[in-house]
Amino acid sequence: MKRKIIAFDLDGTLAESKSALTDEMAEILNELLVHFQVCVISGGKFEQFEKQLLSNLKADPIKLEALHLMPTCGTRYYRYEVLDSKWNKVYSEDFSEEDKKEIIEALNDGLDELDMREAKPWGELIEDRGSQVTLSTLGQEAPVAEKEAWDPDNEKKKKLRDYISEKIPKFEVRTGGTTSIDVTKLGIDKAYGMEKLMEILKVTKEEILFFGDRLQEGGNDYPVKAMGIDALEVSEWQHTAIALRAILATISN
Ligand SMILES: [Mg+2]
Repeated sequence: MKRKIIAFDLDGTLAESKSALTDEMAEILNELLVHFQVCVISGGKFEQFEKQLLSNLKADPIKLEALHLMPTCGTRYYRYEVLDSKWNKVYSEDFSEEDKKEIIEALNDGLDELDMREAKPWGELIEDRGSQVTLSTLGQEAPVAEKEAWDPDNEKKKKLRDYISEKIPKFEVRTGGTTSIDVTKLGIDKAYGMEKLMEILKVTKEEILFFGDRLQEGGNDYPVKAMGIDALEVSEWQHTAIALRAILATISN
């Protein structure tokens, strides 16, 4: 079976967590883009892709046409437009105004009913990220020390999450960072993104090869493996580099 797409998780697979791509990986991806369509999928936002992937990816603009970016698990999709020399958002599946209203109401209710509303928060409590609404209980600009002291055993967050989840069962409510609760649509994971990619590029599961660092059950890459796509687990980007060099070597010989 000829592989058409090589797909990657970002953090821990192509780059170290929260860090930019190394020159070595940038060079390998540059070469890979000549032979394959390449997809990068992550739970993070597009800004995360810019920081970790695009800032150090020195590929020729024409090669970038083979690169498919799927932030927030494929609820957003970006392609490079050579004529405009920029990344274009092909689609984003944002909440409707109605959905947002319902979610924001539930988040506010949670704070009030559970008596967790901060009298003097640091900045806005609720952030609308389009396809995700995030509640930061102390405000978005709260100092790290304050955040860490707020709920060291995760009990408050859990209580808040359970309360909100019960109010809006048609959405996914998850605890996020130290003081945050994230609300997304139900059933959004990397398998969702892969389904979208297969639909867009008209390819089958067998034509995709996926690399991720969290492929064990419960990991955020696991849904891709579970849907039947061949998936290779790496524990650091260097492993990905070794495998990709091997793939590229068989092509050029
Ligand atoms: Mg990862």
